[in-house]
Amino acid sequence: MDHETVPAADGRRRIARTDVLLADPRLGEAAGRLGRGVVKAAVVAAQRRARAGEIPPEAVADAAVESLPATASGLRPVINATGVLLHTNLGRAPLSDAARDAVAVASGATDVELDLETGRRARRGRSVLAALLERVPQAEAAHVVNNGAAALVLAATALAGDREIIVSRGEMVEIGDGFRIPELLAATGARLREVGTTNRTTPDDYAAAVGDETGFILKVHPSNFRVTGFTQGADVAELTGLGVPVVADIGSGLLAHEPLLPDEPDAASMLKAGAHLVTASGDKLLGGPQCGLVLGQEEPVRRLARHPLARALRVDKMTLAALEATVRGPRPPTGEALHADEAALRERAERLAARLRDEGVDAVAVGTEAAVGGGGAPGVVLPSAAVSVPDAYAARLRQGTPAVMGRVEDGRCLLDLRAVPPDRDGAIAGAVRAAAS
Ligand SMILES: *Cc1c(COP(=O)(O)O)cnc(C)c1O
Repeated sequence: MDHETVPAADGRRRIARTDVLLADPRLGEAAGRLGRGVVKAAVVAAQRRARAGEIPPEAVADAAVESLPATASGLRPVINATGVLLHTNLGRAPLSDAARDAVAVASGATDVELDLETGRRARRGRSVLAALLERVPQAEAAHVVNNGAAALVLAATALAGDREIIVSRGEMVEIGDGFRIPELLAATGARLREVGTTNRTTPDDYAAAVGDETGFILKVHPSNFRVTGFTQGADVAELTGLGVPVVADIGSGLLAHEPLLPDEPDAASMLKAGAHLVTASGDKLLGGPQCGLVLGQEEPVRRLARHPLARALRVDKMTLAALEATVRGPRPPTGEALHADEAALRERAERLAARLRDEGVDAVAVGTEAAVGGGGAPGVVLPSAAVSVPDAYAARLRQGTPAVMGRVEDGRCLLDLRAVPPDRDGAIAGAVRAAAS
């Protein structure tokens, strides 16, 4: 027998049985809150650690209690210190407190399809649709689906069917993780009619392609890359006179022009330019929940909303609640991060670094460059500030509670504050302290 396993094998006999541990009042209370399965898994993991000699047998109950998750879901909260405002792997836009409160209310039984005044059935999502139309008066009607891709699929299915969608070769884009807009559209049974070239497409190219088989013209915002040099594209305004609907996929979800992102298209401007429909994501620059927005003229929006496929793409009540609170409520975290003042970010970084240095931690404030991310605003640099700590902390910060996700650059772990709400600075200090000890 291996020398080292002897003490562990001895200790094994002293490790309490699962049913005995589950009788611990703290674990009993947790079972009521999180479910017996979740608590049992924590107990079994703690017993395994004791068997491996990582913790003493008498510490198993405490270790199990300590390792209990905050909720019965495997999703853990993460502080986004990556400097990427919309981090796809962190679930894109974080919701505002107003949206979280709305979700909490809507998660119970709610009047999503009921008029409490009359007691009769009411239109699902009526108040969020009204909120969208208030914010974008250029739209006659609105509809909400599961995500931006679903909005495109519904538009293709309802407006083109098996006919043609005219799209520029310069706008045949991959949105990420291998998902390509042309393939998505082709999957609906519509035929893609490519016009122009990668770098240049003129209004005449579109005009020459329009015919009896045209379902609509699609303008896709190349949201995650830039083509520069000898380029030309056609604006929506140059295409609306061709006698077929023009659908503008703006991606980002900006409802109105954002001066900080001058090249990012917005719904109001596209509709003003004559687009019949605009499609967008809810969890990018709008800063709301994952969903897809369809805004535009009454007739095409109604065709989408009444299509049988709409039922398969419909959003749940919590999404409707979060979206409405995002649209009506205070500026969500994504907007706050975008508008954060550079000097204020620097000051926060310096204060945090000084505090950590006082405790003996190797931390310095540095200037950084943050980005919008989430496949939006390519090339836009947002000046920012970070606390720079040893790169060996990166994994410990990621695995801590709360998890802190920074980015490793030139052998240092940078905790960029632009996407971190100021009230989380204390949590970052605590996390770094724990990683350093
Ligand atoms: C992000 C994006 C999409 C896809 O939207 P999802 O909400 O991720 O489904 C489609 N088109 C453009 C231009 C985008 O930027």
